[in-house]
Amino acid sequence: MTTNPANHPNTGPSRAGLRIGHGYDLHRLDELAPNGEGRPFVLGGVQIPANKGPVGHSDADALLHAVTDALLGAIGEPDIGQLFPDTDPRHESQDSAIFVEEALRRVHGRGFGIVNLDATVVCERPKIGPHREAIIARVAGLLEVGNGAVNVKAKTHEGVDAIGEGFAIEVHCVVLLCSAD
Ligand SMILES: [Zn+2]
Repeated sequence: MTTNPANHPNTGPSRAGLRIGHGYDLHRLDELAPNGEGRPFVLGGVQIPANKGPVGHSDADALLHAVTDALLGAIGEPDIGQLFPDTDPRHESQDSAIFVEEALRRVHGRGFGIVNLDATVVCERPKIGPHREAIIARVAGLLEVGNGAVNVKAKTHEGVDAIGEGFAIEVHCVVLLCSAD
């Protein structure tokens, strides 16, 4: 029996001790409550002034959800929806930081550390760029890594389709893990 976490039966063998994970999330955007169903616009744990906000059971932070799924994906665990069902009243309005913290706990438990994380946010409004540094600092803090290990890029959908028309926000994310030993 090996104790090398890279050879864990659920994560598969990796001679280099490297694992990659991918996360994706999308939330519908709506007028802020009480006029609509939108929650305050929060991305990567940073609140951003906006006319519309994401609709969801928790705080609907699409970036932190994608980060959580990337971490869980890298270690071969079920996705965020299975770990934290949106039917669970405890997760109503939940700060999504706890999802990242739980995923990170599982990553560390498997003996892995984070090499780097790269995310792309696709959103027409509000503009994410001015908040990029704050978002990176917050995500890096949650992941217990330096700011240089986290990158967050933002782009619009060029006015095309639902995202371009401002009806949704989408996040893609990849994370690279390495065996801590
Ligand atoms: Zn989500």
